[in-house]
Amino acid sequence: MKLDVLVFAAHPDDPELAMGGSIVKLTKNGIKVGIVDLTRGELGTRGNADIRKTEAAKAAKVLGLSARENLSIPDGNVEESVENELKIVVTLRKYRPTIIFAPYYNDRHPDHINTSRLVKRSMFASGLAKLESFENGKAQEPFRPAKLYYYMQTYTFDPSFIVDISDVYEAKMEAVKSYGTQFYNPQLNEPETFISSRNFMSNIEARAKFYGFKIGKSFGEPFFSEEDVELDLVGMIKELG
Ligand SMILES: [Zn+2]
Repeated sequence: MKLDVLVFAAHPDDPELAMGGSIVKLTKNGIKVGIVDLTRGELGTRGNADIRKTEAAKAAKVLGLSARENLSIPDGNVEESVENELKIVVTLRKYRPTIIFAPYYNDRHPDHINTSRLVKRSMFASGLAKLESFENGKAQEPFRPAKLYYYMQTYTFDPSFIVDISDVYEAKMEAVKSYGTQFYNPQLNEPETFISSRNFMSNIEARAKFYGFKIGKSFGEPFFSEEDVELDLVGMIKELG
């Protein structure tokens, strides 16, 4: 299945938090988006791998995803290894996305950093004709996506561009809240974590408002690009009328 966009994440719920609004915006406009979660999040303090699988499937529906895969790399131990690189190459060659997204390469969580580095390496490796990979025993064709953009997790950066998510903000939050065990829920008798505090949810909203404000909109999601981003000047003038 050919996809337009593929989002890579260390843990299920990372893509929803960082770019759930942008994903809904794309899928609502007929763009085919998929997510590849590297781990099942089994090391998380709250919930367990099975519950998080159900939660991820629920969020996938809200986001309008065409595909969601889990590579089952051990949580807390995402290694920048040749073996893991090949697992990502297999998904790139399978879905042949035009644009891919990965975590920003500096963050508080080592899994996020390693996922970022792995995706960048795999993007390059995937285009090499002599690197063999197989899907269901069949040799795959080489393929390299056109663009790699990074989304924001805990550590911030100066964005290369910001996506207006004002009209899809509610859907983003619905996708985030699909992970009932992970976030603020006074009914649950589970230990409090960094992301399950009441404060964390209000920080998510504050961040979306902050980046929205920077582009004159209600809510926004920031992205980083190592390469400069081209501006479609003619299109922009026509749109602003
Ligand atoms: Zn994460």
